[in-house]
Amino acid sequence: MKKLLFILPLVLALSSCNSQTIKTEKMDTTSKPNPVYNRKDDKKVVLPEEEWKKILSPEVFYVARQKGTERPWTSKFEKSKEIGTYYCAVCGNGLFKSDTKFESGCGWPSFYEPLNKGAIIYTPDNSHGMKRTEVQCGKCKSHLGHVFDDGPPPTGLRFCINGVVLDFEKAQAAEKKYDEKAPNQ
Ligand SMILES: [Zn+2]
Repeated sequence: MKKLLFILPLVLALSSCNSQTIKTEKMDTTSKPNPVYNRKDDKKVVLPEEEWKKILSPEVFYVARQKGTERPWTSKFEKSKEIGTYYCAVCGNGLFKSDTKFESGCGWPSFYEPLNKGAIIYTPDNSHGMKRTEVQCGKCKSHLGHVFDDGPPPTGLRFCINGVVLDFEKAQAAEKKYDEKAPNQ
């Protein structure tokens, strides 16, 4: 009996310790879901597909890494008129400004011009019996969508992009970050 009384507090202490470890691990994974996502670093990101599969959600992995297409009219960005910047949801690369976004009626978020020259990579795509130009992220080479030449002026281009691989930051939030950074520069 004496022995039992001695062991009991030890067991209790051990089990409470264990439950705490599990809690912290869980918190870590939710705050850092994607280790390669970075809006401030434009260094190229190259990872094997099995690594992407671990990092990305199934929906994003399917579109970004397997060249999938999300169902039309399903993206919250399709009709969004909010002012700000669209980033690659996979790596945080700046892709489009909201002032180049337009309603194309095609069912996917559409833009007429990328943020800058390096934002996007163009690749010929002859799949599905069509001659199209695929657009990929310039930083992580994720599939974003396609570009067509029936867009509005000034470019005449229509970048038809899967909303699931886009990440949006409102302009106000972007300005605030800039102010915070300024004193250190
Ligand atoms: Zn990317």
